[in-house]
Amino acid sequence: MEGLSFWERESWIEYDAVIAGAGITGLSLACELLERAPKLRVLICDAGLLPLGASTRNAGFACTGPLTEALHDIEQMGEQAFVELFERRWKGLQKLRSRIGEQALEFEALGSFEVLKQEREQLGDEILTLNKLLEPVAKEVYSITDNRFGFASKSVWKIIENRLDGQLHSGKAIRSLWGKAASLGALILQGTQVKNYESGPSEIRVELQSGERVLSVKTQRLFICTNAFSSTLLPQIKLEPGRGQVLVTKPLEQLPFQGTFSFDEGYYYFRNVGNRVLFGGGRNLDFEGENTTAFGENSLILNSLREHLSDWILPNMHWEEDMNWSGIMAFSPDKKPFIDEVEPGVFAAIRMNGMGVALASGAAEKLANQSGLI
Ligand SMILES: Cc1cc2nc3c(=O)[nH]c(=O)nc-3n(C[C@H](O)[C@H](O)[C@H](O)COP(=O)(O)OP(=O)(O)OC[C@H]3O[C@@H](n4cnc5c(N)ncnc54)[C@H](O)[C@@H]3O)c2cc1C
Repeated sequence: MEGLSFWERESWIEYDAVIAGAGITGLSLACELLERAPKLRVLICDAGLLPLGASTRNAGFACTGPLTEALHDIEQMGEQAFVELFERRWKGLQKLRSRIGEQALEFEALGSFEVLKQEREQLGDEILTLNKLLEPVAKEVYSITDNRFGFASKSVWKIIENRLDGQLHSGKAIRSLWGKAASLGALILQGTQVKNYESGPSEIRVELQSGERVLSVKTQRLFICTNAFSSTLLPQIKLEPGRGQVLVTKPLEQLPFQGTFSFDEGYYYFRNVGNRVLFGGGRNLDFEGENTTAFGENSLILNSLREHLSDWILPNMHWEEDMNWSGIMAFSPDKKPFIDEVEPGVFAAIRMNGMGVALASGAAEKLANQSGLI
């Protein structure tokens, strides 16, 4: 057995649950399993030196979604599926807040605001209808608000508030979840890739690789939480990777807004981080170029973010860019995540469709319930 010692074989090889991926989904799942069944032997393996996908590279919107995206979702998936998805996001956010604590997450309930640049004739009716549809989940979710944020008025027709939404610190959220999973007893191995697995009659063999070293472990259940990077382990589940570009400004002397904002059906999003602006999105400018699992800059998109900032988000203000980065999401054509058993004993929570912060806790709960381990 790869030259293991007796002690290693006794202590490191057998698990009840192996989780591939230590992003928000894998870590939430480890917490869920161990909170409910503290004696479980749980191993989380993540290929990156630090978790490296979307969870620590996102915008930190703790959001149920803007109005036009909701209307678009209803067109794509129908009313009932949309309300279920909305409820999952809302409950997921509440669970994340109670699991980690708002202070540790640096959660701020500032609401989210969608900037409509173009007139929509039916806006009043759309808000009424959507609020009515969502009434079983939460009352009066969407409303029209003023441009009190200093945006150039030439670019703003109306602003729609979603009162349920907030923002958090994505780095601290993942560190806290990591710490919580470890304190509950999970063994977390960074820099360790799940290469392959083989299901047997009584256990699943999982092949791990770290540099040149390969190790085979045994588990009762395998959970694949590798989102955009799932195609080699689960080629049968269709998903499209989507890279997202983000930039952050240096601190500004005075920032005239706080909260999370979006426009163009959620394709662009920005927020304050203290008195900096974090701005991301623009994937709709180059869907093809961003359909990749490779991290990297897209100058067409980054330049568009810079132009929007100067043109109307921070009009007449001097700002400087501090840094930019990219992260990788996973999408499905119907915007539905895949959270289910794939074959006996093997489960997946992937394809988070750019909303994993809100969906991860609910996904973890669903898989824990299905696993038969609790
Ligand atoms: C730019 C950007 C902005 C976003 N903004 C928001 C937002 O504001 N709000 C929101 O809700 N969502 C947002 N998202 C989406 C959200 O971040 C994701 O939906 C969520 O983080 C997905 O989490 P995950 O744990 O499923 O996947 P990931 O965070 O991608 O984690 C997957 C992990 O799997 C590991 N891995 C990959 N292959 C293997 C393997 N074979 N073995 C072991 N480990 C492996 C990777 O190293 C990685 O750490 C954004 C995403 C991006 C990229």
